[in-house]
Amino acid sequence: MNRPMKKPTYYTTRRKFVKRISQGAGAGLFLPASMGVLGSACSSNQQSSETVTESTEAPAKKDRLGLALVGLGNYSKGQLAPALEQTEKCYLAGIVTGTPAKAEEWKQKYNIPDGNIYNYDNYDELVNNDDIDIIYVVLPNSMHAEYTIRAAKAGKHVMCEKPMAISVDECQQMIDACNQNNVQLAVGYRLHYEPFNQEVIRLGQEQVFGPLTGIDNAFGFTIGDPTQWRLDYERAGGGALMDVGIYTIQAACYTSGEEPVSVVAEEFKTDMEKFSEVDETINFTLTFPSGLKANCQTSYNKNYNKLRGEAENGWFELSPAYTYGPLAGETSEGPMDFPQISEQAVHMDRFAECIMQNEMIKTTGEMGMRDMKIIEAIYQSIEQGSQEVPIDL
Ligand code: NAD
Repeated sequence: MNRPMKKPTYYTTRRKFVKRISQGAGAGLFLPASMGVLGSACSSNQQSSETVTESTEAPAKKDRLGLALVGLGNYSKGQLAPALEQTEKCYLAGIVTGTPAKAEEWKQKYNIPDGNIYNYDNYDELVNNDDIDIIYVVLPNSMHAEYTIRAAKAGKHVMCEKPMAISVDECQQMIDACNQNNVQLAVGYRLHYEPFNQEVIRLGQEQVFGPLTGIDNAFGFTIGDPTQWRLDYERAGGGALMDVGIYTIQAACYTSGEEPVSVVAEEFKTDMEKFSEVDETINFTLTFPSGLKANCQTSYNKNYNKLRGEAENGWFELSPAYTYGPLAGETSEGPMDFPQISEQAVHMDRFAECIMQNEMIKTTGEMGMRDMKIIEAIYQSIEQGSQEVPIDL
């Protein structure tokens, strides 16, 4: 968590810089101080590349970036689109959907121009669309890598939902594609921007109640429809662990400010038919370099939603901890009191701001890949009969 992250270099070559400015994509953005005269070129998206290199005018900056949602399922419809009505640094500029009826509904509701509505076949044509700066991938897990890589190749910054992908190899390919195309990659870890969880980060990492002595942490829900993609290994890549157990991994890391060095895990199944392809319930214990242990539980067959930190001189707890809110929290000194906000709106705005200011978002692809390494170690421990498996980050 505290490892130094490699900062992407946006314009590694003059040719790339000129190409992007002349296309108008994200015009005026990412101008490192070292660009000198070239860095202060271009005042309009309409200029040719020749004009750009000659000009000494400051580039026209967008004050809001255009974002396109890919996949208009429950999360996009119920959370992200409403959040995009609250954002100040980005806005819903486009959509990608395979369902014409959804395209029509969203076009009317959010006033999306026809030219910014794509399907899965013409997705790569986004490369020519200067309205779209950020692509937000909100598809089944197994599609995250492909649609992130294609977005990066189209020169678009990418926000990708959790889990970032379904293997460490895929995560690496996504990071490489974004680096090669000089675009930023963020993972949809919204809780880094949620006030109750931010307080837990402060209490844990600043050792407000002294050094942590333990973390107990659980997120699970009773899953319905047995035909949904979340229960299909091909599309989900795993079960409860991939979907919601990942929140407990995140919380263990951000509460402690450490990254685990080993894990012991065991799996339980009560419904062999429904969970024939993916995991139903997994309990695992992460061990951190300081010796701290985090006990984590995740399930598709039990409802729990809690994060508790025990420290030498007190404790803190969120319950519920991970859902969209309202959340609630308490410490050994009394109840927590924070406003309910749209963490998705804050997260997307922060990502847009990072792109505009050439800064690095906290919720990087590297963080997504770290979590996938931990998930792979958990599955490995289960396969090895609950042996302790080292985690090599
Ligand atoms: P969903 O099933 O409601 O939506 C999935 C969308 O993908 C649908 O629009 C569907 O039409 C489309 N799709 C395209 N190809 C598909 C295929 N082959 N099979 C199934 N659907 C296909 O799912 P969701 O709940 O919106 O989840 C989407 C992603 O967002 C997942 O990766 C999930 O983990 C993530 N998510 C994150 C949060 C969060 O709080 N960060 C919350 C919910 C979901």
